[in-house]
Amino acid sequence: MGLQAFLSRRVVTPEGIRPGAVLVDGERIAGVVRPEDVPSDARREDFGEAALLPGLVDSHVHINEPGRTDWEGFKTATRAAAAGGYTMLVDMPLNCVPSTTNVAALEAKRSAAQGQCHVDWGAWGGLVPGNAGDIAELARAGVAGFKCFLVHPGIDEFAMVGEQDLRRALPILARTGLPLLVHAELPGRIDAATERLQNDDWRSYRTYLQSRPDEAERAAIQFMLSLCREHGFRLHIVHLATASALEMLAAARAEGLPVSVETCPHYLHLQAENIADGATQCKCAPPIRGQANRERLWRGLKDGVIDLVVTDHSPCPPTMKRRDEGDFRQAWGGIASLSLALPVMWTEAKERGRSLVDLARWMAEKPAWLAGCGSRKGRLAAGCDADFAVFDPEAEFNVTEDRLHHRHAVSPYLEERVRGVVKRTYLRGELVYRDGEFVGERRGGEFRA
Ligand SMILES: [Zn+2]
Repeated sequence: MGLQAFLSRRVVTPEGIRPGAVLVDGERIAGVVRPEDVPSDARREDFGEAALLPGLVDSHVHINEPGRTDWEGFKTATRAAAAGGYTMLVDMPLNCVPSTTNVAALEAKRSAAQGQCHVDWGAWGGLVPGNAGDIAELARAGVAGFKCFLVHPGIDEFAMVGEQDLRRALPILARTGLPLLVHAELPGRIDAATERLQNDDWRSYRTYLQSRPDEAERAAIQFMLSLCREHGFRLHIVHLATASALEMLAAARAEGLPVSVETCPHYLHLQAENIADGATQCKCAPPIRGQANRERLWRGLKDGVIDLVVTDHSPCPPTMKRRDEGDFRQAWGGIASLSLALPVMWTEAKERGRSLVDLARWMAEKPAWLAGCGSRKGRLAAGCDADFAVFDPEAEFNVTEDRLHHRHAVSPYLEERVRGVVKRTYLRGELVYRDGEFVGERRGGEFRA
């Protein structure tokens, strides 16, 4: 098919935004050049003022397949991803049945994904009590790293780990060189607070927020940092919600500990003060905290203490959100946002003087690095997969159900007005999404290094 040239006045590379052309040869980027340097025999497509972003990489997604395909699934999650400018997802090991805690389960996931995916994907393995013996084998079989919970994850089949489990697993895990992703909340404070609040009004968001205090996150992070110091494994804190841990994390980084941190669009956009009673579409764990906290998270991103932004896309059937009762204790915790994360982030980032280069780093380059696919994903650079999104940063739209594309149209962003529209998404050189339509065959496959 020969060389293709995708031109834009705003090509977003790690070095900055400039007029240019992404040259594509087959599935890979052959180079990023000035417009005048496009070879004359290349087939040209010019996007004008629309920005060309690297395909976004989401290293924190709950696809739920096999086993809970009525919650989400490869087809619907990757469809929402394509519509959101994402070209690579990494699936969390829980919620699917079997959970991804051994190689047989990983193989079941691979079979389930066959022929279903609009974009590429990878898998995290699970670290649970009793599976230290599976770690090395899972690493060889191709997981990107491991995920564990220090608190009950809401799914009984995927147990949380305690200190003894960790001490058994960490020396093995450290030898794989892969990261350990940790849901960092300790149960003690949460259980005590929940007990104390048991007769309070659980339709009130305040009650839920009080039941998961900042201190539960802080104590968990401190605990993991001490294990990191001892065992030298790569530690990654998922979905940081409390800004009160930033200082501790910055100090750990300064000390040289191999620790990285993510947060999510909902913590950077929503604020506890505005969450209405019964609005369980806003329930997630750790909880969305107050406005001052949100601003400090933005500062953490700016300062580089927080490395990356991922969705933690975690849908469920609408009934499990218990919208009728609005009971925050009973409702499933999880927010699905693959199709909206980029506009939501851009809406907030622009207000704070951040650029598309920042978004590309937080939402593509750094998550790709975490998931071990950074040599081919997350950047517009020669040798990388030709994954990119065409994004109109000036356009705005109202969030309606038809914009969501995941299985169940539940979202805390419905009826909001957001800035920036994903016009097209390309996966390895081929168009997969254009103006609300999904195009081409489902060519997405598992990323293997
Ligand atoms: Zn999650």
